[in-house]
Amino acid sequence: MAQKEDTSKPPGKRRSLMNWIYFALFALIFLPYILPSLTGTSPQEITWKYFEEQILPDRVVDKIEVVNNELADIYLKPDSLNKPKYRLLNQKNIFGASAGGPQYVIRIGSVDVFVRDLEKAQANVPQSQQIAVKYVKQENWLGNVLSWVLPFLLIIGLWFFLFRGITKTPGGTGAMSPFNFGKSRAVMTDKNTNSKITFKDVAGYDELKVEIMEVVEFLKKPENFTRLGAKIPRGVLLIGPPGTGKTLMAKAVAGEANVPFFSLSGPEFIEMFVGVGASRVRDLFEKAKNKAPSIIFIDEIDTIGRRRGRTVSIQVDDERESTLNQLLSEMDGFDEKTGVIVLAATNRADILDPALVRPGRFDRHIYLELPNKVEREAIFNVHLQPVKYDKSKVDIKLLAAQTPGFSGADIANVCNEAALIAVRQNKNIVDEMDFNEAIDKVVAGTEKKTLVISPREKEIISYHEAGHAITGWMLKNIDPLIKVSIIPRGKSLGSAWYLPEENKITTRAKFNDQLCAALGGRAAEALQFHEISSGALDDLEKATKLAYSMVALLGLDAKVGNVSFYDSTGMQEQTFQKPYSDSTAALIDEQVRNLLNGAFERASAILEKNHDKLDQLAKLLQEKEMVFREDIEKILGKKADG
Ligand code: ADP
Ligand code: MG
Ligand code: ZN
Repeated sequence: MAQKEDTSKPPGKRRSLMNWIYFALFALIFLPYILPSLTGTSPQEITWKYFEEQILPDRVVDKIEVVNNELADIYLKPDSLNKPKYRLLNQKNIFGASAGGPQYVIRIGSVDVFVRDLEKAQANVPQSQQIAVKYVKQENWLGNVLSWVLPFLLIIGLWFFLFRGITKTPGGTGAMSPFNFGKSRAVMTDKNTNSKITFKDVAGYDELKVEIMEVVEFLKKPENFTRLGAKIPRGVLLIGPPGTGKTLMAKAVAGEANVPFFSLSGPEFIEMFVGVGASRVRDLFEKAKNKAPSIIFIDEIDTIGRRRGRTVSIQVDDERESTLNQLLSEMDGFDEKTGVIVLAATNRADILDPALVRPGRFDRHIYLELPNKVEREAIFNVHLQPVKYDKSKVDIKLLAAQTPGFSGADIANVCNEAALIAVRQNKNIVDEMDFNEAIDKVVAGTEKKTLVISPREKEIISYHEAGHAITGWMLKNIDPLIKVSIIPRGKSLGSAWYLPEENKITTRAKFNDQLCAALGGRAAEALQFHEISSGALDDLEKATKLAYSMVALLGLDAKVGNVSFYDSTGMQEQTFQKPYSDSTAALIDEQVRNLLNGAFERASAILEKNHDKLDQLAKLLQEKEMVFREDIEKILGKKADG
């Protein structure tokens, strides 16, 4: 379990503090409304006309106070309040005392007019009995203060509210408050942390484990290495496609290394407020240095480590850049004695800033590739441990063979999915059918059982898939097929599964065969129905991309020649400029089209020669919907080995 690094107040205490803050906020907002009922009565508002006609003649007015040149507060003589007419005004406040007034208030437009009117109205009253007018300036201090303070309070309230939300996000690791905002929220794992992941949980990658542990050994016993003048690496970068277990590997290092391990994900550096990233980096390194020897792990480092100064957007980049710069300078600040190693993971090593991967920073690169067959088997074994499956029927070797190109994460998904499928069918044990379905599901998205295909469509799809199968079977360089299906899945209609051999180098002949097999579906449609359909979109896309890479990237076309317009630095995509002339572009297009047309013709020729077999396989597909290798062999004979 991850453990919180900075021990802030326990959540209960924090909550009651929050409640007090909310209470104070509400009290301040509602105080102005509550106050009058506590201290006295609010005067009755009247017009000048009413005052002149109804009240003035009674001679009950004690004094008038003009407040802020806006209001005329009218105070009655205390004894007059006992008269029946005014008794109602003799209100008591909640303490039972008689309120002192004012009893009436007149909203006045202009003080001059008011005074003139008053004088006129009292023209025949003796001077000594005329009402005195006092001018007062009343500071509405509460209102004033509130108008200043309230916005701040609201902002702070909102702030707390937001942070409360953040703390609750999944994996929200630290107590967030406005006061530790610039602090990193790194999760620290050390030897006291239980339930840890170790190398046992990571299947395969044996050499990589040794390599990584060597780095950890550096950390623990630097003398052994510095003795002969070797430098301790500062940064180790784990590179590999998504789901290959980079994060898992780092967690396992944490479990094995027995040193404090701080982990944080790239996106966590960059949040909604500017300037946070850099200070979080600083804080993270500070913490790690205090606990040295220790390891820092930054997951998804490409979010902050992206090459600088290339993109068009400015706002986000500024923040990221300052975060990156801070990271770079922190890493420069280490020396052998610091005893901190930075581990990072990314699946986009190509976009990392060169400054980040130069010697002295992330100078060790460890590549995690997609697992091969043997490794997939090992990964299956890890993830099948908790699954109750039929050991007599489920062949793990076959599962591994059926899942080329799957990442570790995909395989974990297959195992879980298979168990779910078995549960859904109320089985007591997971069997091989469940695994097959799970693999299909992961390959091509959820099986669409409800998608209805008309008989005509089924016929077309069956010929299309049979076309792929037969061209592939007849071509020397195509991997043997394991099954063909016309059950629609995800966005593709039927599909054909191959068992690829895993080679690093592909010959031109093999590429050509691949193009041919990819277009075999469409060729079969054309042959059988003298018409082509929209069902070949996927095939066309794949074939077109393949052809382009043959011509423009791999130097496999005679006319275009031994050039490659591949750009491993990634600079090119930013400039939107092609590194070749218009005439070369036209030539590339032409050669791609020639390649594709040639492949289509080849596929057509193969199918024409085997039209009877095409019919047979298509019929069988329409009948069974899924045809396995044995049946294919019955129709087509053994595949000529490639
Ligand atoms: P990445 O960080 O490379 O994208 P993760 O480390 O998050 O991939 O891997 C996702 C999941 O895939 C892991 O939690 C684990 O279940 C599974 N997995 C990946 N590689 C392996 C492996 N070599 N052995 C066992 N499980 C693996
Ligand atoms: Mg990851
Ligand atoms: Zn197809």
